[in-house]
This record gives sequence, C-alpha cells and structure tokens, in this order.
Amino acid sequence: MRKKFVAGNWKMFTTAASAEKLAQDVVRGLGSESRVQVAVCPPFPYLSRVGQALKGSGVGLGAQNLYPEKEGAFTGEVSPTMLVDVGCRHVILGHSERRHKLGESDGFINRKVHAALAAGLDVILCVGETLEEREADQTEKVLDAQVAGSLKDIRGDALARIVVAYEPVWAIGTGKNASPEQAQQAHAYVRQRIAQQCGADAAQKLIIQYGGSVKPDNASSLLRQPDVDGALVGGASLKADDFLAIVRAGM
Ligand code: PEP
Repeated sequence: MRKKFVAGNWKMFTTAASAEKLAQDVVRGLGSESRVQVAVCPPFPYLSRVGQALKGSGVGLGAQNLYPEKEGAFTGEVSPTMLVDVGCRHVILGHSERRHKLGESDGFINRKVHAALAAGLDVILCVGETLEEREADQTEKVLDAQVAGSLKDIRGDALARIVVAYEPVWAIGTGKNASPEQAQQAHAYVRQRIAQQCGADAAQKLIIQYGGSVKPDNASSLLRQPDVDGALVGGASLKADDFLAIVRAGM
C-alpha cells in the first residue's frame, strides 16, 4: 500500500510575506494529519523563511531545481548541498517548464538526479508528453525516453528516494486535466517501464504523482486511480484552502 504524496510547486510566484503566510496556513490546516505525505516547493529566495514556518510540522520543504555540482564557478546556480543546508528534503527535477522553456535534456536531468541523491535529497522527477506527441501517438515513446534517460544508472534501492510525477505538458497550467483513465493508463505504463529498468519490487513501491491542473473538484477522481499515488500541484497550491482540499482528497 503506497502512501499518497501531495506536493505544491509554487513556481515563480509569491512574495516573502505571502510565501510565509501560505506555509503557515497549510501547516495550520493540516494539523496533526499524517495520512497523506505533504511538501511545498517555494522559490529559492523563500526556502529558509518557509522552512521556518514548516518547523515542527510534517510538511516537507522542497526546491524546484538545482545545479548538479557541489560548488564552484557557476554564477546564478544553486547546489544540492546548499538546498540541504537550508532544510530542503525534496527537489523537483525535469519539470516540463525547464525541459521545454530552458532546454534541459534527459542527460542533464540525470546528472541532477544523481547529484540530488548524493547530497541526501529526495527527488520528484517530472515526465510527460506534449499535446503534439500525444496526438501523434508518441506518449509511450516519450515516456520511455524520459524514464530511460533521466533515471540512467538508478538502481532499485536509489529508486526508493525518487518520486515520479507524470505531468502531461498539455495539462500544466491550462485548466485541462488528463481524465482519470488517461492518467491511470500513463501511470501504469510508467510503472511497468520502471519495473523493466529498476526491478519489479522497487517499481511496485514507487510513488507516481499526477500533475496537470489538479484542482479540488477533480482531485478525488484522479487520486482514486490505482496507480495514481498523489499529485504535484501548481496553480492550486498557491491557495491554502484549495491545496488542503486536494490533500484531503487523497485521504
Ligand atoms: C506543475 O507546475 O507541476 C503543475 C502541475 O501546474 P498546474 O497544477 O498549475 O497545472
């Protein structure tokens, strides 16, 4: 039985004050509830402040990216050890906005996955097809390439520290979510693909989140699918009430 995991990706939104308030509201709203694992991923500048607001709660702190080196002359980048240093437990890697707007390749994402794990961070690895790819019947081929490339040289035991987020690009920030059946089909495919690559036992334990316009009114039907083990939530994670309603849908 996999425990559901709901994470909020705050992207490049919030201010220092609104990030702190959002974190406080999430903590207050959850109380001692622990049936669902919860994390929030604010922008880099607010990690410490949000970390303070989360202290003593069960809500994990995550970053949205990292650079795959310990330190060095990489102006403007943030290392995995810096993220650990400010209290991060998770990091989102391979988000489609980074793949498609910033040109990140599976090879580069794979370096980040290894660097994150080596520093002690748990990874939320995003995969998913564009609308063009889905319409051209390429979804499975795209998922194959992303899983093979991003998880290269990841063995069964390392997989325990990885969550995969299936995020069809056409559903992200568009208000158009995948149907529960489409999500289930893709999740089952990803699990089977990962079983081939990393072993059946590790794949059975793997948490696969769905991401793409998850809202309070569609969360239950998505989270009821047998291979949908949680959600990576963008827009709706910026409102505490909506995010908490999505978390509750996973209980
Ligand atoms: C995301 O940012 O990962 C995401 C799924 O965004 P949204 O929920 O806004 O579609």
